[in-house]
Amino acid sequence: PDPTLRPERQAGDADRALRPLALGDFVGQAEARANLRVFLESARARGEAMDHTLFFGPPGLGKTTLAQIVARELGVNFRMTSGPVLAKAGDLAAILTNLEARDVLFIDEIHRLNPVVEEVLYPAMEDFELDLVIGEGPAARTVRIELQPFTLVGATTRLGLLTTPLRDRFGIPTRLQFYEVAELAQIVARNAEKLGVAAEPAGAEEIARRARGTPRIAGRLLRRVVDFAVVEGDGRVTKALADGALTRLGVDDLGLDGADRRYLRLIAESYTGGPVGIETIAAALSESRDALEEVVEPYLLQQGLLQRTPRGRMLAPRGWTHLGLAPPPPPGQ
Ligand code: ADP
Repeated sequence: PDPTLRPERQAGDADRALRPLALGDFVGQAEARANLRVFLESARARGEAMDHTLFFGPPGLGKTTLAQIVARELGVNFRMTSGPVLAKAGDLAAILTNLEARDVLFIDEIHRLNPVVEEVLYPAMEDFELDLVIGEGPAARTVRIELQPFTLVGATTRLGLLTTPLRDRFGIPTRLQFYEVAELAQIVARNAEKLGVAAEPAGAEEIARRARGTPRIAGRLLRRVVDFAVVEGDGRVTKALADGALTRLGVDDLGLDGADRRYLRLIAESYTGGPVGIETIAAALSESRDALEEVVEPYLLQQGLLQRTPRGRMLAPRGWTHLGLAPPPPPGQ
């Protein structure tokens, strides 16, 4: 397949080069960072594995990055897998038995663990023990294997989909928030420097303002703006250049892209502002409900463009304004 048709994959590779490596280089998430610093220091001082940690929040906010930083700050190995990849109990058992003392095991999309695999995780997290069933039928027996103490770092975009027993086994649950523009501007400026690109502060800020509160998107937009700067400008990222490039890419002044506006416009135009059920929206947009709930909706809700009500999604007044439309008159007028 043509790699240019797979921007996510490319972004993934480029992402890696821009990842901050130490907690001190990680911008934003001040509260999470301050707490982590304490837990890291305590674990180091006691010479023990840090408690199991769960990062939750929308994609691209730094969950994987923080997990890697935790391992680095603890001076231990970082092992990475993901919920959907662990098909059988044996897959997880193989990883767990290979961990060294105090290692970090990162499980991305942990809400998508197979229940059989999740069962294996409970005693592993709680007592650093593994119960393995050997053989089949009447001859089957269970052997208990001692594991090295380790830190499980789980990441999820959907806290609500985690089972209660799994959730309860994380001593350090940490919510990641959308970033402030000033924080994103700092990240953009730093990334520009890493890419060897000259970015004016106003240029970095223009990208930051339109990055949907998300460092991953800021990184992606920066790379596209740099393309325009190289081909159509003098290589420098100025405010005017960033503005022109982002507008041409369909990113509006709130950072919404085509998919976001399609979502809002559907509610406005086909359902007079709602309420309308998420399944109906998903069907009308030919999108999966999961993708809408994980990727599209969180930022629209955070920006006050959308409301979630018990009867379905509704366009908020700010949503109407942003689309340049007038809300329907209230009923009875
Ligand atoms: P998640 O796991 O939450 O989806 P990642 O950790 O993969 O997000 O981060 C996505 C991209 O954004 C990476 O390139 C990462 O370097 C960058 N990034 C995330 N958070 C920060 C931050 N606080 N400072 C700088 N870059 C960040």
